[in-house]
Amino acid sequence: MKVVRSVAEMKALAREWRRQEKRIGFVPTMGYLHEGHLSLVRESKRRADVTAVSIFVNPTQFGPNEDFQKYPRDLEKDTAYLEQGGADCLFYPAAADVYPPGYRTFAEVTGLQDKLCGRSRPGHFRGVATVVLKLFEIVRPDLAFFGAKDAQQVLIIRRMAADLDLDLEVVTCPIVREPDGLALSSRNAYLGPDERTAARALSTSLRWAERAAAAGERDAARLVAGIRAVLEAEPLARIDYVEAVDPGSLEPVAEVRGEVLIALAVFIGPTRLIDNILLRG
Ligand code: AMP
Repeated sequence: MKVVRSVAEMKALAREWRRQEKRIGFVPTMGYLHEGHLSLVRESKRRADVTAVSIFVNPTQFGPNEDFQKYPRDLEKDTAYLEQGGADCLFYPAAADVYPPGYRTFAEVTGLQDKLCGRSRPGHFRGVATVVLKLFEIVRPDLAFFGAKDAQQVLIIRRMAADLDLDLEVVTCPIVREPDGLALSSRNAYLGPDERTAARALSTSLRWAERAAAAGERDAARLVAGIRAVLEAEPLARIDYVEAVDPGSLEPVAEVRGEVLIALAVFIGPTRLIDNILLRG
């Protein structure tokens, strides 16, 4: 696996791949890799000829009081993990290379960026859209792989790709979970033993909603109230939001008819975790 540390070198390698008519798969990440990331790498290897994975803890998507400084990092372990997973290239740029002095240009996906997580994390999706657009331009992939765990993120990237006529396919991969249901996340590393147990409440609450919907519950407010009740029964959990929305517009829905995205963000102690489920009514 090639480890590429500069934007110029990554562009050159991708140019060479294109010259060889290779289909380029790209998996953007912030590192501290887990099986969820690896599932994207595997899907890329299945669908593309070469797979590039970026690791970049993107400063512009963190708020001033968020965890940019302490976000977990372990390049050595990530490199070994990707090597094993069969990635062709790890792109690990420096922040000053991605955002040189004088940097002023940002991508915004208006409307979508201000809902759900965007409400509690102003500027977050502007940072995400900007860095992903830049990474797309550097790598110029044919296929880009994202996890459904970050449902709002992949919707925003899809919208941006369509709106800006980006010449690539956005692929959404299913959420990878621990055996007890907790969605894998680099931030799970923050959880102490009691918090780790408490964190099960997120997926437990969504599974309750899934069962209730399967049993015929169509009222979105009742589903949200039921989810909140499961979460509120967990003393270490503090709800940021629970919403039932249209998966295309992220506008709240009153009823489960067609596809409905139930998305939530919950603090377990100081750690903010997200999860979601797509219901079909
Ligand atoms: P991150 O490193 O957290 O920015 O995530 C990089 C990519 O991995 C994003 O597309 C995430 O949606 C995806 N991802 C993170 N956790 C999971 C998971 N548990 N299952 C599937 N994809 C995931």
